[in-house]
Amino acid sequence: MIRFVDIRKEYDNGTKALKGISFRIDDGEFAFLVGPSGSGKSTIIKLITGEIAPSEGRLMVNGYNMNNITPRQVPYMRRTLGVIFQDFRLIDKKTVYENLTFAMRAVGATGRDVRKRVPYVLDLVGLSRKADRLPNELSGGEQQRVAIARALVNNPSMIIADEPTGNLDPKRSLEIMTLLERINELGTTVVVVTHEKELVNRFSKRVIAIQDGRLISDETGGYYNNEQEI
Ligand code: ADP
Repeated sequence: MIRFVDIRKEYDNGTKALKGISFRIDDGEFAFLVGPSGSGKSTIIKLITGEIAPSEGRLMVNGYNMNNITPRQVPYMRRTLGVIFQDFRLIDKKTVYENLTFAMRAVGATGRDVRKRVPYVLDLVGLSRKADRLPNELSGGEQQRVAIARALVNNPSMIIADEPTGNLDPKRSLEIMTLLERINELGTTVVVVTHEKELVNRFSKRVIAIQDGRLISDETGGYYNNEQEI
């Protein structure tokens, strides 16, 4: 569960990126976070992952109070999150299977855990037959599915996807979004940052819209269904 209570973020150079934002995303929800470039979306994501701290306001992420989280607690908090990026961020020299194994080993999983979990997540993303490929032997859509599998492999309670379809054509984008929807239906909370209006409109989901550091709309079925444009 994510809870922002009147969060403000001012960067060191004086830029006020967030000007008092409040919202809550409950366990099991699917939410799009939309807004034009510079509106504050990345700042929100970085606050959730603990990369930056709020200037003011209260912030809870999956049971952790981010206002007074200790450096020692941060890695445990991060394990509750699976993060996916526009540029996939896979390890080039490792196969699909090894990329997933590496992510599990990094948090202390045993060989037995790996042998059980990796085939399950590969099947979930439809890549069982490509386990031995290197990332550059896969299409962009497939690489993003590997990144999704990697985000899921340690069984986080929440997936945060930051412009996950930014590098993909419309057909692959729709496949990725449909996969994220399926993952949500299996019980994982999913938050997707995007500015792809048509894609958002194909899913009848909650849409949290940010503009100029403020929350301007929060509706199910989509801000983009309103007459207002961003
Ligand atoms: P978005 O992800 O919606 O494009 P950001 O959260 O990246 O928006 O940026 C919000 C505002 O904060 C912008 O005005 C941006 O220039 C500013 N900003 C982002 N990161 C920094 C930073 N590290 N230092 C100073 N200003 C920043």
